[in-house]
Amino acid sequence: GGRWGKAEAVVRELEERCSTPAGKLRQVADAMTVEMHAGLASEGGSKLKMLISYVDNLPTGDENGLFYALDLGGTNFRVMRVQLGGKEGRVAKQEFAEVSIPPHLMTGTSHELFDFIAAELAKFVATEGEGFHLSHGRQRELGFTFSFPVRQTSISSGTLIKWTKGFSIDDTVGEDVVAELTKAMERQGLDMRVSALVNDTIGTLAGGRYTDKDVVVAVILGTGSNAAYVERAHAIPKWHGLLPKSGEMVINMEWGNFRSSHLPLTEYDQAMDTESLNPGEQIFEKLVSGMYLGDIVRRVLLRMAEEAAFFGDTVPPKLRIPFVFRTPDMSAMHHDHSPDLKIVGNKLKNILGITNTSLKTRKTIIEICDIVAARGARLAAAGIYGVLKKMGRDTIIRDGEKQKTVVAVDGGLYEHYTFYRECLHSTMIELLGEGVSDTVILEHSNDGSGTGAALLAASHSQYL
Ligand code: ADP
Ligand code: MG
Repeated sequence: GGRWGKAEAVVRELEERCSTPAGKLRQVADAMTVEMHAGLASEGGSKLKMLISYVDNLPTGDENGLFYALDLGGTNFRVMRVQLGGKEGRVAKQEFAEVSIPPHLMTGTSHELFDFIAAELAKFVATEGEGFHLSHGRQRELGFTFSFPVRQTSISSGTLIKWTKGFSIDDTVGEDVVAELTKAMERQGLDMRVSALVNDTIGTLAGGRYTDKDVVVAVILGTGSNAAYVERAHAIPKWHGLLPKSGEMVINMEWGNFRSSHLPLTEYDQAMDTESLNPGEQIFEKLVSGMYLGDIVRRVLLRMAEEAAFFGDTVPPKLRIPFVFRTPDMSAMHHDHSPDLKIVGNKLKNILGITNTSLKTRKTIIEICDIVAARGARLAAAGIYGVLKKMGRDTIIRDGEKQKTVVAVDGGLYEHYTFYRECLHSTMIELLGEGVSDTVILEHSNDGSGTGAALLAASHSQYL
């Protein structure tokens, strides 16, 4: 009937607008490499900030001692301690704690947020027990993983450029986040020094390198998305400092802010962007990352409810609430292999208050999840391919030698959304071709960023 016809038309239009044939992905990848060059050439030269991390040496395995790490990046933050034992002992012992950030602190004041973090950190430090040894007379040291765009001024200082991913605290912007944390730790009476300020991509790269010397790129696919890689220092025209001994510098791309006319944007993306906390920014992130995929699906369903009475004569009111439908719900529906799509039915009922859906309706919803997830995963693959091209790692032989490239990938989206992960993998093979793709390995780095930050704190310890 008419309803189905209209609903079908919305889905077909979505499919067409979201399509990402290999040719388009190659254009996206090429645009990514062009922007990488521009961002390295001059400050503000590109939407890609290509931030200099001040990390010019990745972990070697020699790191030794007790170090802490604190990871602030999304809805949770994690604290950890690790006892490093050098080449022989490696990671002798580690412990974690995870705390969810009360939502009101994400849009409150800087003081409140950092006080909360420092208080949780102090609680964690107080539980330090057997197996952890701080050398006599030493101050505890911390690697601070802060996953928002920061203009680094040294390995252990940097000012916040802007918040992303739902955080919005005006008085932190332009401030040194290490100074903010240090002051908050002092208010807590916690004696600890921040030895390294990194973000999750740099932490993941460092943690990845510690376990596998072929790791040269790190990608985050979680609440947000970003990438970091090892660049040749002399290929960074905007770097006016001394050339590091290693000849290398890790670059935090901040690729979430990438945009290009080749990106397949729909009216849903445009509306979501306009209504977001950061309109016009993080466009690539809004296409590929976990914070947004569910909301894109919700927007499509809302349009179908309004224009095709897809859920009956009235529009289910909950469908109008931004971000009620989250990416983990989307992936649960998408992976529903039961004959009557029971999980889809339950999610619709429990989250959106929509009951009595037909099998055909449920199947259509899965199709929408498929379109939105595949677009995101394929674009993420194009981004990685662009980075590999920039690095000269889209070929089997480089400098006369056969090369192997490992990309460390972390984030809840990549970890838990199986369809997304598999689509990303198959798209990498599609773009690289069979031969080269055998030399490129995507490796899931399970919370490597925590270990990585602790390792960087160790290699930048005040006692070295
Ligand atoms: P963060 O990026 O905030 O540091 P994570 O790496 O743990 O934290 O990623 C969390 C994000 O991963 C969530 O915001 C969500 O978008 C996504 N995610 C978590 N679980 C799932 C899931 N089961 N399916 C799909 N996406 C998920
Ligand atoms: Mg994270």
